[in-house]
Amino acid sequence: MPFLKDKFYSFQMLCFGLILIGWITFITQLIPTYAYYFLWQSTFVFLLLAIALSIYFNKSKLFVLLLFPFFFNLALAFPTTFFVKLSVTAFWHIAPLCTALGFLFIYALQERGLFSSFGLLRSGLGIAFLLVAYFSLKNFSPEMQKALSTSLLPTSLSHLTKASDFVTIIAMVALLFIFLISLLFETKSQKAPFWMLVAQLISFLFLHDKNSFILFSLITSLIAIAALAHDAYRMAYIDTLTGVPGRRALEETFLRLGSHYVLAMVDIDFFKKFNDKFGHDIGDDVLKLIAKELSYIKNGGKVFRYGGEEFTIVFRGKKKEDCILALEAIRESIFKRGFVIRDKERPNKTPKKVEKKPAKKERLSVSIGMACSIKGKSPEEIIKVADTALYKAKESGRNCLIAL
Ligand code: GH3
Ligand code: MG
Ligand code: MG
Repeated sequence: MPFLKDKFYSFQMLCFGLILIGWITFITQLIPTYAYYFLWQSTFVFLLLAIALSIYFNKSKLFVLLLFPFFFNLALAFPTTFFVKLSVTAFWHIAPLCTALGFLFIYALQERGLFSSFGLLRSGLGIAFLLVAYFSLKNFSPEMQKALSTSLLPTSLSHLTKASDFVTIIAMVALLFIFLISLLFETKSQKAPFWMLVAQLISFLFLHDKNSFILFSLITSLIAIAALAHDAYRMAYIDTLTGVPGRRALEETFLRLGSHYVLAMVDIDFFKKFNDKFGHDIGDDVLKLIAKELSYIKNGGKVFRYGGEEFTIVFRGKKKEDCILALEAIRESIFKRGFVIRDKERPNKTPKKVEKKPAKKERLSVSIGMACSIKGKSPEEIIKVADTALYKAKESGRNCLIAL
């Protein structure tokens, strides 16, 4: 779906951009050293804001992941209060290790809200990790340092990163795991945990500097806030079944349509019969496919789910004839495409001998009513005209377009 893909990729680009800006800012020393003290206050404010928002939106995963940079910033800010005296070597060994392992385990638990048993388990796990980090930082000994610095590989990775081989390997495993899981199983999620870990690992592995950790913690909090905003946007504007924008998004679009536009109402023909014949679940699958097909509309049309099995297509500033051509093309492609209906009683195990039945292809069609903007009339009134045209298309035998 082009619309969603746009939003999805713009989120990935935003995260990438933030990290790149952070890196350039740090290595070019754009921020003078004394200014990091003030930046640190912003880091705490934004981390707290992100934590508060994750509680408000009931996102246990983000909540627990944010506790890590928050805790390690506290450790750096109060090195003598909590730890007698925090050793710098201890910090650069324990903080990356604990962050990478924490992200790995917490990410593996599914999102079920903060106040569910899953959420509590995740919070408990996060706090357990931080307690281990606290005691490891407090009691860091030369033996621990030696153990964490032992070379595991035939060739040392020290020319690649500034962290010990052990820390680098654990960090890379965690990053790769989160990347693969989010790529394979969470195609719709915005992949914020991955980017949050990338931001922190840049400081832990490559920059190895207190100020870089402050800067990249700030970036981590910004990624989390952007992810929460992205999710809130999706919840408000995107129809969960079909993945295209819903009625609320359409109403917002009406507010900034301008004076020259074309609206089309698309309605699936005999969809009730289709549901009765194949069941509601298959009906849902077909609705998704039709939404996807409609989103390929040419001439700059934008698709919205109006409700039920009806969609609205909005063209801004386009000629009537071009809109008719685009709508006719999409109507025809839906009719020609057909929908392969999978067997409802598909066996769980694949039988040894597979009888090859010819796949059942059901034809579906849509009727379309189209109306152009009229001076002095609101988009809501024009939608009614498009609805009248749709009614006429149904009366004319369906699978056709009527433009008024
Ligand atoms: P027509 O050609 O006149 O449009 O006939 P129709 O059967 O499509 O029209 P009608 O408005 O009578 O029925 C629409 C049906 O769409 C009713 C309902 O079962 C189905 N429907 C609406 N929303 C959904 C949905 O989210 N999922 C599924 N599976 N079906 C839906
Ligand atoms: Mg209908
Ligand atoms: Mg219908």
